Amino acid sequence: SIDIQNVTVLGSGVLGSQIAFQTAFHGFAVTVYDISEEILEKAQQRLSGLAGIYAKEVPGGTEAKAAEALARITCSADLADAVKDADLVIEAIPEVLDIKRATYEQLAVLAPEKTIFASNSSTLLPSDMKDFTGRPEKFLALHFANQVWKFNTAEVMGTADTDPQVFQAVVSFAANIGMVPIEVHKEKAGYVLNSLLVPFLNAAAELAAFGYASPEDVDKVWRIGTGAPMGPFQIYDVVGLSTAYNILSHGTAKDREIAVWMKENYIDKGKMGVATGEGFYRY
Ligand code: NAD
Repeated sequence: SIDIQNVTVLGSGVLGSQIAFQTAFHGFAVTVYDISEEILEKAQQRLSGLAGIYAKEVPGGTEAKAAEALARITCSADLADAVKDADLVIEAIPEVLDIKRATYEQLAVLAPEKTIFASNSSTLLPSDMKDFTGRPEKFLALHFANQVWKFNTAEVMGTADTDPQVFQAVVSFAANIGMVPIEVHKEKAGYVLNSLLVPFLNAAAELAAFGYASPEDVDKVWRIGTGAPMGPFQIYDVVGLSTAYNILSHGTAKDREIAVWMKENYIDKGKMGVATGEGFYRY
């Protein structure tokens, strides 16, 4: 069976740093790659910040365990060096197809034959990238959610070419780093979570933007009617309104009308969600 021990994370941004820390916290040796030493210095700060969060917020987390996790992470700005002994490379670089393709073309040559490649891409399908990997049978998507220590699903989604043993090895790996693996059996834009969440949030925004009901009442009916802990506008506030706005403003004519409503009534007033202290609600 396939043994995953050494993990390399490409990209030390929001998600890459979290994936790296989560993996190291669960005892794996992790290498973080990014494009310059300067960015890697920022990555060190991000990782130290995460150590503080894990020590406080994660069940079983202590200062000592967080420090040990930090010590298991090595940073490198040399791609060849970063992947030379990787069993698994998790790619969390910018959501730009050309950047991803160019990176997989380099990886195809630099990584050992054993290395599995997994993309954390939110909106691209693994099929968009597989031909650049040089190993479509060892390539798939492994999709985390922001704040991995709290929202701990890991959606695993291959292409028709992904070796089922590779798929299962990545499912096991996800469980081994404290995630709840979700197996997606066919390629689907949005995986499971966003296939549900995006239309749900859009429907809520439509009700409020076109004056059918207030955000507060939309949330109330959802909470009372289904027993869910949060309504859609509470979720918007957590996700951040700028992300929602970006998605809506690239959508249909109706979506774009909703985007304008969101911008004029909230975003232009600095109400971006929990992160800015106010969105649809005050925090
Ligand atoms: P980010 O912009 O915070 O980080 C991207 C990192 O990649 C930066 O550190 C950047 O320096 C680095 N980078 C740029 N070019 C690179 C290259 N050629 N090789 C290696 N690294 C390079 O982005 P993010 O929010 O962490 O998103 C990364 C990926 O994760 C995207 O595919 C995104 O769709 C996905 N994702 C993001 C979220 C989220 O909530 N932010 C959630 C799930 C998945």
